[in-house]
Amino acid sequence: MAFLFESFASWKQYSTEKNMSLVQVVVEYECTQKNRTEKEIWDGLARAWDVMKDAVQTGLTEDMTSRSGMINNGAKKVYNYPTPVLSKEFQNLISRALAAKEVNSCMGRIVAAPTAGASGIMPGVLYTLQEIHHVDDKKILEAMLLAAGIALIMEQKASIAGAVGGCQAETGTAAAMGSGAIVYCMGGNTDQIFNAVAITVQCMLGLVCDPVAGLVEVPCVVRNASAAAIANSSAQIGLANVSSVIPVDEVIEAMGEIGASMETRYKETALGGLAATKTGQAISKRVLIRDIEVLPDEEVK
Ligand code: SF4
Repeated sequence: MAFLFESFASWKQYSTEKNMSLVQVVVEYECTQKNRTEKEIWDGLARAWDVMKDAVQTGLTEDMTSRSGMINNGAKKVYNYPTPVLSKEFQNLISRALAAKEVNSCMGRIVAAPTAGASGIMPGVLYTLQEIHHVDDKKILEAMLLAAGIALIMEQKASIAGAVGGCQAETGTAAAMGSGAIVYCMGGNTDQIFNAVAITVQCMLGLVCDPVAGLVEVPCVVRNASAAAIANSSAQIGLANVSSVIPVDEVIEAMGEIGASMETRYKETALGGLAATKTGQAISKRVLIRDIEVLPDEEVK
């Protein structure tokens, strides 16, 4: 019986008892529970990594204007802005997370890691990490698998869907995946990885899902950038062995508790938060009217 990803504590215990790395435990899970060969797993990850890198490039080079007009080439503007606030690396990180997510908002090809709404975070984080630290592709693929293990537990203990647990569940999970992946690639141990995950989620708790006009554009795209930044800040803190104080499993349970008590209007219904603002409502009306107008006559009955 393979390990079933019910908690971080049991993932660590299983890997210690079986003398397997955290990544090997995920490989075993994929092979036994999903009936995949190791070759299929690594080939699939390599394809996913290619799609992530393509999404970053596409978002930074092609026209990214969404049908609603709310997304309008923001990633390129940030990437090309002449004055970095912190450093060019940070500017690149933010631009890349925006870029890959804009591709999703413009109906391009992305990897839902873990969801389409959060699809800019892992590409932005991993692309920038590889560039700065010269991480080889094999290590990146291992980090993606480790991140998948993190998401599996978060899905079981809380949720990874905005409609169930708010945006903390979507962009929060992706940020936790990214943070764990960074620490793994930087040579961190199990405790440092899980600590970084805990710190990341602590920073994302309570974030509501309030997409304007029900489109995964505003605030989704910019939240991918901020989540990528939090993934990096938490990785830096976790690597330095600064304790999250609250253990990672308890942090994820808190996320589940907050998600369960969140009002429905903050769960992708576009009835609360930014979606319910005066401007959000006006945009919603405009998008709705425009969509009705473009429907063929026979469909408008
Ligand atoms: S606001 Fe909602 S739809 Fe947008 S990224 Fe967050 S969870 Fe997804």
